[in-house]
Parts: sequence; structure tokens; C-alpha cells
Amino acid sequence: MKSVPRNARCYVEISRSRIAANYRAVRDAVAPTRSTNEPGVIGVVKADAYGHGAVEVARVLAREGIEWLAVSSVDEGVTLRTAGLTQRILVMAGVMPWEFEAVREQNLTPVVHSLDELRLFAEARISKVHLKLDTGMDRLGTLAEANQIATALAAAPGLTVEGLLSHFASATDFTSDQSPEQIRLFHEKATALRNLGVQPPLMHFASTNAVAYPRPGAWLSLVRPGHAIYGYVSPARGAAPSATFHVRPALQWKTHIVAVKDIPAGARVGYGGSWQAETPTRLAILAAGYADGVPHRLSNKGKVIAGGRLAPIVGTVSMDLTTIDITQSPQLQPGDEVTLLGSEGDVSLDAQQLAKTAGTISYNILCSISARVRRFYTD
Ligand SMILES: *Cc1c(COP(=O)(O)O)cnc(C)c1O
Repeated sequence: MKSVPRNARCYVEISRSRIAANYRAVRDAVAPTRSTNEPGVIGVVKADAYGHGAVEVARVLAREGIEWLAVSSVDEGVTLRTAGLTQRILVMAGVMPWEFEAVREQNLTPVVHSLDELRLFAEARISKVHLKLDTGMDRLGTLAEANQIATALAAAPGLTVEGLLSHFASATDFTSDQSPEQIRLFHEKATALRNLGVQPPLMHFASTNAVAYPRPGAWLSLVRPGHAIYGYVSPARGAAPSATFHVRPALQWKTHIVAVKDIPAGARVGYGGSWQAETPTRLAILAAGYADGVPHRLSNKGKVIAGGRLAPIVGTVSMDLTTIDITQSPQLQPGDEVTLLGSEGDVSLDAQQLAKTAGTISYNILCSISARVRRFYTD
């Protein structure tokens, strides 16, 4: 994926065709013949599409014919509607009391997490919801029994539960029985609900990892990938099946050299003087820091790609600047571009590698690329 040089201190470049290809890879894995009894795909574009730009990504997915998008909040749903997206929009992380009107007016589809909420949504004249069952994640989702759910629904006239969903806690972990247990509980409750006359037409459970590493009973009428659309699948533990699709990162993150300087042996670099040159060293100061999303935890640990080779971060990452050792690339000059995520020649860095060094997860790296980092799109 070649990137175009840009006049921006620090920027990301997102490939629309990569997003589209990743989406198609997931869709082809779950629905190879595109028949109605194969799962559909909900494109998860929450958190500004994991830093990739929710409106831009949603437009790419819309062009690919996607019917469902998912966001975390009503605000995120309104942003998509305001930009003209007409797909169904699932709001997954809860609706606040003051947001009911926006849900109705913007035709958003909320996920309901409690029986009380069923009543409140009915009172707010919201007609369709999806109901989340807590099957062991112990985060959002109701723990109520099927008969309690059926009773609550009978007392919520005008409200239809269009979808039933749950969420995996440990989808990549094939050394644990948590996922099969979650699947068993989900199907048990869905069956009990059906016996009580509650039969939502849609059911969904799997996000990226449970699509990549399939388990019996996890792919239902829809799947909900996010990470995969951006080009990532988390590594699995234990005896996982091989991944059902292949995706590649859609985002490259670049910055520029602000200054180059030579320091003598013994000089200390940055706040706290935490790095000391053992030999004469050439430094480059980069126009990106933790305010741009470079993890502070990469201080004295991380690497970037400069002049086509890996260059170590020296000293602490500061708010707007990061210092690297470019002794091995003496040709580099102020104004030259440096890669934080992406590739130069055959050297590459992805969010999983960065995350590992920083002691976090790739999701966290992508979502932390801050608003001040300019976004550019290529086809
Ligand atoms: C974020 C999220 C997803 C998407 O997860 P990925 O691992 O990015 O595919 C799906 N469902 C729910 C409820 C989520 O919060």
C-alpha cells in the first residue's frame, strides 16, 4: 500500500479499497453464496470507525451494499444520519434518558439491556429494538429468565424485539470453555423465548474473532465485525481453527522530522534524562507525541520506520514530539517523512506490534490516534 507524501505534520492515510476488500473478505467467509440463509454483516463503525473515520468508512461499506451499521452511542448514529447514511444503524452501548427522541427521529435501532428499558422504550414510542442477553460477559445484557422477558414484552405494547444478541468475552481463547458455554446459554434462552412466543427474526453474536475462528452456533442471522474491516484479527490461543478470512491494515500513520541533531556520548535525551547516548548519536525529533496518540509507554521501547529501516524511540515520548535514533540513517533531513504505522519497502509496523511493545491492544492503538492527526483517504 503506497502512500502519497502529504503536507501535514502528522497524518493517517486510509485506503478505501482496503476497507472494501476487508469487508468483502469477511462477507465471503460467512456468506459465500449470498443466499438468505447465510449471515448478513453488520459493519461496526463505532469510535469513529476505530480512528478510520466513521462517515468515510460507512460510505465505503454502503457502496459495497451493506445493510447494517453499528455504533456505540446515539451521537455516533446521528453523525451517520446527518451525513446521509440510510442503512439500519444499531446503537450498541446504551441509550441515555435524554436521547430517546433522537433514537426515534433518526430511526436508530437501540440495543436494550434490561427489562426496565423495554418499558421505557415503549413509552418513548420506539418501535424496534434488539435485546442483548448476558451470557457470561457480565457487562451489558439482561440476565432475566425467558418468562420474565416475555412478561416484560407483553407489558410493552408497540415495541418489537427485532433482534436477539449477545457478545463473546473470550472468542480467541480455545483453551477456555467460556465461549461454548456462552453459546449454549444463548441458544437455551432463545429456545425458551420461542416456546413463549417470542421469536425475534434476527439473532447475532459473533464479532471479528468469532468470525475468524468459528465455533458451532456462533454465526446466526448476522455477524458484527469491526476490527476485521480495519484489517486486524487478534491472535488465538490454543487449538483454534485457521482463520476463515485474510485481511490487511487499511491505515498508515505518518509524521515528519522537525529537527535533526548530533549529540555526544554521555548526553541524555528528553524528560527525566531517561536515555543516555553511549556513543555519538544522531537524533531526529518527530512531529508526533502522545497528544497525537503515540503511546507514552513506547518511551525507550518503541520503534518507527525512518529511511526504510526501524529506528528506536529514545527518551520519553512527549506531548507533541518523539525522539528517535537515526544514527543508522544519516541521510535523513528535517521535513522527511517517518512511518509510525505502515510500511516502507519491506519493513512494516502494524498496530498489533505497537500494542505489544506498549503493553496494550491493537484496538487501543487505533482508537487513540487523536483528532488533531489529519485524515486522508485514497481509493
Ligand atoms: C465493538 C463491538 C463489536 C465489534 O468487535 P470487533 O472485535 O472489533 O469485531 C461487536 N459487538 C459489540 C457489542 C461490540 O461492542
